[in-house]
Amino acid sequence: MEKRYIFGPVPSRRLGFSLGVDIIPYKVCSLNCIYCQLGASGGTTLERREYVQIDKVLRELEETLQQPGRIDYITLSGSGEPTLNSRIGDLIPAIKKLTTIPVALLTNGTTLVRPEVREALWELDLVVPSLDAGTEKIYRLINRPCAGLDLDGLVRGISDFVAGFSGQVWLEVMLLKGINDSDDELEAIARRIGEIQPDKVQLNTAVRPPAESGVGALGPEELEKARIFLQSRISSIPVEVVAGFSGKREDAEDKDIRTSILTYLERRPATSEDLSATFGLHRNEIVKYLGHLLDDGLIKEECKGATKYFLYNKV
Ligand code: SF4
Repeated sequence: MEKRYIFGPVPSRRLGFSLGVDIIPYKVCSLNCIYCQLGASGGTTLERREYVQIDKVLRELEETLQQPGRIDYITLSGSGEPTLNSRIGDLIPAIKKLTTIPVALLTNGTTLVRPEVREALWELDLVVPSLDAGTEKIYRLINRPCAGLDLDGLVRGISDFVAGFSGQVWLEVMLLKGINDSDDELEAIARRIGEIQPDKVQLNTAVRPPAESGVGALGPEELEKARIFLQSRISSIPVEVVAGFSGKREDAEDKDIRTSILTYLERRPATSEDLSATFGLHRNEIVKYLGHLLDDGLIKEECKGATKYFLYNKV
């Protein structure tokens, strides 16, 4: 069976063995983040529709679940914002009828301000929304939202969701050097986290500089400093660093992920976003692995228009 929407399961540091479900096409998103590994988008949208047919996704998922193998999470993601698929609210209960495996969602959080979106997600087990700014100015600078969106709405949406949700919410904060890592901005981010009250906060950084210039990563010590700062402001919510750094995690899991990516690229070229959806890993983590594979000469990159593809390097 050729799979179009279902990927994995593959080992993921945060979600164990994660089976990816891709329900949004390339760069259909309400934001245009400066750190996005997909590059700058042609435009942003808030339009919700059935971009990917949910019935087809479910058929593929059902067949995949009949195969043997460990799956810790089924992860809804995509090459953009998954909640823009208007049938996500039909998909989640349908998955729940198929399996008892927990279902997770990676989201930029912008649509959670809409009650119908929050309601569509109630049956999930884990939601990982993003919050990269504490002030409107930095939100606009980093996330470049679609017209009609603002930071107050984002925070209110995530906070309303947390208040009514019985599952876990892990808030991801992407820290960028010289942009949102000042004490003032971290203080403002901490206040927003206090309003949201997630179950935990995960700090990430642009480990490998993405397409846009001027976007830099924090080093391990800087990230740890930011973690301690945030933790001191929001003592009741655990704050952890999830960014990976070269040479820091040469464990069996890293090797598994590298091998899985290489095996995948042997079969077909892919963008970093395809691989992020495939492996249920944050795109910055995927880019880290791609960087290692490029450095080792095992893969190469090729641009088609504005899109960068990674290919297996036959030598
Ligand atoms: S990083 Fe995610 S939320 Fe931001 S533009 Fe890219 S796909 Fe959209």
